[in-house]
Amino acid sequence: MPPLFDAHCHLQDERLAGRLAEVLNRAKHAGVRRMLCCGCHERNWGAVLTLAQAHPEILPSFGIHPWYMEGRQEDWLETLERFLSEQPSGVGEIGLDHAVTPRADEEQEAVFIAQLRLARRLKRPVSLHCLKAWERLRAILSREGGVWWGGLIHSYSGSAEMVKPLEEMGLYISFSGAVTHPGNKRGHRALAAVSPDHLLIETDSPDLPPAGAADAVNEPANLKLVASGVADILGRTPDWVAEQTFANAGRLLDGIISTNSQNSLFTGQLV
Ligand SMILES: [Zn+2]
Repeated sequence: MPPLFDAHCHLQDERLAGRLAEVLNRAKHAGVRRMLCCGCHERNWGAVLTLAQAHPEILPSFGIHPWYMEGRQEDWLETLERFLSEQPSGVGEIGLDHAVTPRADEEQEAVFIAQLRLARRLKRPVSLHCLKAWERLRAILSREGGVWWGGLIHSYSGSAEMVKPLEEMGLYISFSGAVTHPGNKRGHRALAAVSPDHLLIETDSPDLPPAGAADAVNEPANLKLVASGVADILGRTPDWVAEQTFANAGRLLDGIISTNSQNSLFTGQLV
């Protein structure tokens, strides 16, 4: 299979901490050449940065996820800007979640919008999380003028009808192992609605293992299973999915990748 690009994962997660060397080795052998690794709160941004500095195949992204707003410091936005300025990186995982309890919509939206605007000012791509909040997401994005430097919606769970308006606002649509489960008809319909040049795949490791995964703790090597599952649903070959999504992710994240490879911190060869 051609090289794969994992558009969304959390390699800093403590479930992977003790065995990261094996996990990265298996990813390499499975053909996963790049991974976008997202921090979710101030407490793990440092770990994401360290991983990206040690492994050129890991691209960093920093943000506050709607599940982890609590306990953030007063100066969280300045800290975020500092991390983003440290090296080429994306903004995320950020977004809206109407399924979380307790729900604090006003705070969620304020934190989300502040990060969207920071991404716009620093010219960074965004990685969005959205659960059961599609109309609000669409309203906020259209008020903000879309995503200025591109972005993706990770583990897409919206409707097929929502795909086009999101693409028109600059978003790529990323599918995780969740879409590979046979009962996920809504996911299959949404996948079929995505333009080939806006399609991405991801593992969301260590969460969301795809159908056929050997372990409940997911890892980037399982992206192969996501590519095959997506190929089956679309009536394409796994090679087509790999090539298409690798090219799409490369286009979206070009600013992060090209500068990273030239950065003196990154002396290792790309695998
Ligand atoms: Zn995630």
